[in-house]
Amino acid sequence: MADKTIFQKIGDGDIPVKMEYQDELCFCIRDINPQAPLHLLVIPRRLIARLDSAVEADEALLGHLLLVGRKVALGLGFEDGFRIVINNGPMAGETVPHLHVHVLAGRQMGWPPG
Ligand code: AMP
Repeated sequence: MADKTIFQKIGDGDIPVKMEYQDELCFCIRDINPQAPLHLLVIPRRLIARLDSAVEADEALLGHLLLVGRKVALGLGFEDGFRIVINNGPMAGETVPHLHVHVLAGRQMGWPPG
């Protein structure tokens, strides 16, 4: 069996991390290297390496990740706006090969993103 990703280890409780939210499908933690005052990661418990690897059966799960990100950001008081980012593959900046949704808030965002 392949080594667990860092996010599988966190989700399985092998590495103790404060969860901002969790349910049977996903969990939400703060990014260890925040790029904004609020920087959350919403991560499916089941390993999907990247968005490219998702299939039609993952449609509801993918929507759930977005709604969880919204719920946690609003619950923490970041009502002025937030940015959702999914890096798909190394060229896009994905460093952990386990699909995750970044939720960034608390500062003015620029465009285009780097
Ligand atoms: P990406 O570059 O899109 O793959 O995002 C991976 C993110 O995971 C980066 O923003 C890292 O800072 C973050 N990260 C890596 N290890 C941890 C960890 N142990 N706890 C929280 N965030 C992490």
